[in-house]
Amino acid sequence: MDTTILIATSNEGKVREIENAFDGLPVCLVPLSQLSKVLPEAGEIEEPVEDGTTFLENARIKAHYYMEKTGIAALADDSGLSVEVLDGAPGVYSARYAGVHGDDAANNAKLIAEIRAHDTENAAAAYHCALVLALPDGRELAAEGACTGFIRPAARGTGGFGYDPYFYRTDGRTMAELSREEKHAISHRGAALQIMKERLRVLLSTK
Ligand code: IMP
Repeated sequence: MDTTILIATSNEGKVREIENAFDGLPVCLVPLSQLSKVLPEAGEIEEPVEDGTTFLENARIKAHYYMEKTGIAALADDSGLSVEVLDGAPGVYSARYAGVHGDDAANNAKLIAEIRAHDTENAAAAYHCALVLALPDGRELAAEGACTGFIRPAARGTGGFGYDPYFYRTDGRTMAELSREEKHAISHRGAALQIMKERLRVLLSTK
């Protein structure tokens, strides 16, 4: 079995967390940004349309899209933030909440304005993560994880990415104040990666 896995995301924050989690597994991880090194003929691949209504649907869309475009096993992550008082928003729109995909500063500004408009400075929230690994032989592995906390208007910390400086844990620290290892141990992606790692280990041992 070819053990090359394409990390099908251009989000460098996610790439780092996935690489750390799979450290020690006998697989060769290739981030999308490095695809030309293993598959020069792939050229520039357009991003897929993420029109699923759940994180799992979107992860599935991305994993199968990149696997079909490259012929390489592809691991996709779809994740985001749900805020209770905002009826689950930004949800599957987390990356483009303020309109521009990946504009963390604008997304955070909109999030804080929205929770203030709902008259709260301490909004119950959860991060969700769905991971899908699509294999060229048609098999698929999936895993999900979640992590609860609160959105507060005061940004703290420089680690992580996205909404992390505003996402407070019950111990009073934000996700951006945690070390990589600490974030991995308690985060939505850490939980999903732990499950995916186990499934992958079983898959590798049965081939
Ligand atoms: P996706 O790339 O379409 O899955 O969008 C994920 C978006 O959700 C990111 O751009 C962030 O805004 C947010 N997000 C997902 N995971 C995290 C995290 O671990 N920390 C902070 N923000 C996250």
